[in-house]
Amino acid sequence: MQASSPGKANTSTPSTKHTAPSVQEKALEKLDLKRDIDLALHLPLRYEDETHITRLCDAHEGETIQIEALVVLCEPVFRPRRQLVVHVDDGSDTCILRFFNFYPSLQKALAAGNRIRARGELKGGKNGKGEFGGWTMLHPHIRSTTESLPTALTPIYPSVAGLSQAYLRHAVLAGLARADLSDTFAPGDLSPLDNSIGPHPLWTLRDALYFLHHPTPDVPLETLQNHSHPAWQRLKAEELLAQQLSQLMARRARASLRAPTLKPLTIADSLYTRLLATLPFQLTRAQSRVCAEIMHDMQRTVPMHRLLQGDVGSGKTVVAALVACVCMDAGWQCALMAPTEILAEQHFRKLLDWLEPLGVTTAWLTGNQKTKERRDALALVASGEAKLVVGTHAVIQEKVHFHNLALAVIDEQHRFGVAQRLALRGKLRHEGMEPHLLMMTATPIPRTLAMSYYADLDLSTLDELPPGRTPIVTRLVNATRRDELVERIRQQIAQGRQAYWVCPLIEESEALDLRNATQTYADLRAALDGVQTSRGNQCISARVGLLHSRLAAQDKKTIMADFAQGHIAVLVSTTVIEVGVDVANASLMVIEHAERFGLSQLHQLRGRVGRGTAASACVLLYSIGEGLSKTARDRLKAMVETNDGFEIARRDLEIRGPGEFLGARQSGEAMLRFADLGTDNALLEWARREAPMLLHQHPTLAARHVMRWLGGKSEFLKA
Ligand code: ADP
Ligand code: MG
Repeated sequence: MQASSPGKANTSTPSTKHTAPSVQEKALEKLDLKRDIDLALHLPLRYEDETHITRLCDAHEGETIQIEALVVLCEPVFRPRRQLVVHVDDGSDTCILRFFNFYPSLQKALAAGNRIRARGELKGGKNGKGEFGGWTMLHPHIRSTTESLPTALTPIYPSVAGLSQAYLRHAVLAGLARADLSDTFAPGDLSPLDNSIGPHPLWTLRDALYFLHHPTPDVPLETLQNHSHPAWQRLKAEELLAQQLSQLMARRARASLRAPTLKPLTIADSLYTRLLATLPFQLTRAQSRVCAEIMHDMQRTVPMHRLLQGDVGSGKTVVAALVACVCMDAGWQCALMAPTEILAEQHFRKLLDWLEPLGVTTAWLTGNQKTKERRDALALVASGEAKLVVGTHAVIQEKVHFHNLALAVIDEQHRFGVAQRLALRGKLRHEGMEPHLLMMTATPIPRTLAMSYYADLDLSTLDELPPGRTPIVTRLVNATRRDELVERIRQQIAQGRQAYWVCPLIEESEALDLRNATQTYADLRAALDGVQTSRGNQCISARVGLLHSRLAAQDKKTIMADFAQGHIAVLVSTTVIEVGVDVANASLMVIEHAERFGLSQLHQLRGRVGRGTAASACVLLYSIGEGLSKTARDRLKAMVETNDGFEIARRDLEIRGPGEFLGARQSGEAMLRFADLGTDNALLEWARREAPMLLHQHPTLAARHVMRWLGGKSEFLKA
């Protein structure tokens, strides 16, 4: 097994495509290594230095070294467990090599009297008295001494099960040799990049790739590992440029599409004017501004592609309602989609409250509707009688045919996958047009990410909360002081207030989650049921309610409605209420095991209170059972220190890093493999300047560049 030489161990290369694919070819496919260039761009994770031999007398404990030695003794041992024990001597000292898995071939290669090379981590063995008992290596890599020492570092590639490094290395080198590596950067226009990365002259792609696949041993390994080497700079620049180009191209492609022109009707009997007049509040300046931005887009013949970001409670729903009115006034249908049933239901109710009195027919679409109810809704949508369609993912299912959809609003866009967003946009295709698309999010995107990932998206920002809100006070409370907290809730209830009590999501076990929430529910009922509270002029007995994802949709609805109307004073819940729920009288949010939640999730939850005029509080209950991790402490600290969603997003990015930050919100979208937005800002800025220039002046180079890096995947970036 280990006594293999990479040259001989390989069978065919992956280019022989005519016979049925081998296990290894399938594995390559799984890694998305289909084209020669994909193989060439499959870069090592790390390197091993097999270029020289270390003498045992010069080595230290814990070092990974390669020795050349004579086998003195080679014997299988069966106690305490089956193993092959090999004594070797390199002339300066001795060492014992141990193998727990071995084949006869290895035993043969390690026969006494053979000279071998062994590479592995050196451990200082202990004898019975705990003293140094000589060197050992566990499962070292064995090579024969007849091979000459390699002159380059040995690359170790990211791989999958069933694909050996030797095969992969061979395939990558073959791909590298065959691939077209000609330059796609604009000729003679590389100086801006040089300036942004320092004094090194820019490497060509060919040089950079050849180098990274076989670096010479004299380069500091660190510059390869942390991607600061000029060869890495070139690759990161290439990757970022491809990302920027593909987004520019998507924007261009969209510019050639048509969308219905939706002009606002400001006449007295338009829905838009009437809704504005009936709202119980004045729009904030920020709301008026973003409405104008959105309506400007909707009047164009190019489909809108805009993200509205605004902190929790900043009033995005009313903006959506107003622009929906503009769409309906123009005689077109509008769809509003939310990620969860509860949230969609909330929107539905709110829009119904606002729009039904104005004579708008609204259809409601969700996954678990009764057949008849659903059929009726579908008919309303298809005939165009329903001008407004609200629902969950059910809105984009194939069976849903719109009469004339012109505007789609997606709330909490990061909860929807790319494919779903594309499906929504396809809903008007049959008329040769696309609907306008407005996405909304309460998790603002930090600037570097916005520049990199959302270059094809126009941004509107609600940077102001409606007036009269008292800021939410956030407190950390040790779970041991739970009783005091319950007592405080009792006092609040007596004053007519309502509270949320959120129990954590324990990912491994939904059942455990439920038990947790159910237990809390029982405890709180024992303590609080029957406390007298006021509702309007009435005095009623407080009730505790329980909401979790396993409940039937109808029960969830009833419980939410009871809470909204004040019949339930304390709502115990798993995280189903995470986004968008709006009950103004609720002024206390308790989050149990707050240390287990992500930062943006905590912020979203906190945003459920502080929606009315009463002073609101958020209590983060934490347990220090196994001690809090540093990141958990950082998250809780951030929560106490700031209420500002943008600041929270910035800290979240800092704590988690961009990969994970984005990973949570855009499933499936092409990620950066090499560049790191935390450190490669200068390169990103360069790519942003370079991309439009290249696209404009050298469109063929630009097209080749995107093809090389993204192949067929760039379609996804359009969503
Ligand atoms: P979010 O941006 O989190 O979706 P919502 O749209 O749910 O926020 O709005 C939060 C609350 O603020 C709602 O009760 C809404 O009716 C209210 N609201 C929205 N705009 C204003 C405003 N300009 N003045 C007062 N209250 C407002
Ligand atoms: Mg909302």
